[in-house]
Amino acid sequence: MAAKTVLISGAGVAGPTLAYWLARAGYRPTVVERAAGLRSSGSPVDVRGPAAEVMRKMGLTERVREAATEVASLRFVNDRGKRVGRVAMSDGGGTDVELTRTDLARILYDASAEDAEYVFHDSVIGIEQDAGGVDVTFDRGAPRRFDLVVGTDGLHSGVRRLAFGPEREFVEHMGVYVATMPFDGPVPHRSEIVMYNSPGRAVAVHPSREHGIVAFMFRHAAVPDFDYRNAEQHKRLLETAYAGAGWRVPELLEQVRTADDLYLDSVSRVRLPSWASGRVVLAGDAASCVSLFGDGSTLAIAGAHTLATELAATPEDPASAFRRYEATHRKLVNPRQRNVPMAAAMLIPATRAGMAVRNFGTRLVPLVNAAQKLALAKSA
Ligand SMILES: Cc1cc2nc3c(=O)[nH]c(=O)nc-3n(C[C@H](O)[C@H](O)[C@H](O)COP(=O)(O)OP(=O)(O)OC[C@H]3O[C@@H](n4cnc5c(N)ncnc54)[C@H](O)[C@@H]3O)c2cc1C
Repeated sequence: MAAKTVLISGAGVAGPTLAYWLARAGYRPTVVERAAGLRSSGSPVDVRGPAAEVMRKMGLTERVREAATEVASLRFVNDRGKRVGRVAMSDGGGTDVELTRTDLARILYDASAEDAEYVFHDSVIGIEQDAGGVDVTFDRGAPRRFDLVVGTDGLHSGVRRLAFGPEREFVEHMGVYVATMPFDGPVPHRSEIVMYNSPGRAVAVHPSREHGIVAFMFRHAAVPDFDYRNAEQHKRLLETAYAGAGWRVPELLEQVRTADDLYLDSVSRVRLPSWASGRVVLAGDAASCVSLFGDGSTLAIAGAHTLATELAATPEDPASAFRRYEATHRKLVNPRQRNVPMAAAMLIPATRAGMAVRNFGTRLVPLVNAAQKLALAKSA
């Protein structure tokens, strides 16, 4: 019998992981990616716990370690750059690794490229399914029919819009926007993220690997005409949100004005009652985004592996495979999703009093880890 064909939309983290494991299970994966090549956004992401185990099974542990950043701690500074708190970030030589999303996507692409078909610079614009398969139309390429379609195309998933409904039904703005851009200049410390807060806003300089990265995170109600692809709107938002801020913010805003690689988007939580609709299923951020708070890349890798495992177990019954994937993976996702508001409160306190409490707390316990453990314990 001919191998089953699967279209995977999105070559980020979940897509290539899924392609790798489906090919090993005897499927024929095709990955379509909107970008002309692998994306260059270099935000640091994490490979932890269940994802580290998946990477080990893929024989990628060494490659991931080689690409790791050297970050070991997060330092909070005040208006004058003086240290007011510090949090240890490393797991003390354990399996957790931080690396840039670009490096992670490249490693996963390399691992899967031989056994999957990759189509760059195209995207799905139409999905019609019947009992036997899915007819897909593309922006550029000719229409094709697949046995299954998987949306791993991130927060603003096109597959989700086409097969499940409009974005506004599933994407919840968490009251925070995040922007990143390459840092122009030498980073202060190779092993330390430096973060400055004033009420409702934070700026961090992350050393990353070759070039540092600046991240702006600020509380803001949903902007009614927000467009995640409109760089001029993003620059105006940052100017307004950071007016009057101290530390190195004026200098960083200068860099924003001339930046041609600025990313800005809403910190959002994606929640759907079901991740499957017939022969179409979602994975990674498209199904369950937690944005920068809560192990999104780990969830993307672990979820893709679980989905492939279940499809391998019952290739003739994808609906039951989707149900088992969802039942298993939601156990990992749900606590992380509940954790998002608390993590946001810790990193971007809304008031001066909140900042003082947070900074004092960092002297007692590793804050972010503690926040996560607390949230997990509550949800257990
Ligand atoms: C600023 C920031 C900081 C973060 N920090 C962390 C962190 O510290 N730790 C952590 O674990 N996670 C972090 N995350 C989250 C992490 O990056 C995501 O959870 C993870 O990348 C999700 O993987 P994914 O494959 O589902 O989606 P993505 O990595 O977003 O990949 C989606 C892919 O689909 C492509 N695509 C989009 N639309 C289409 C379309 N219509 N057709 C075809 N292709 C399409 C995109 O170009 C992209 O390549 C952060 C996220 C952000 C934004």
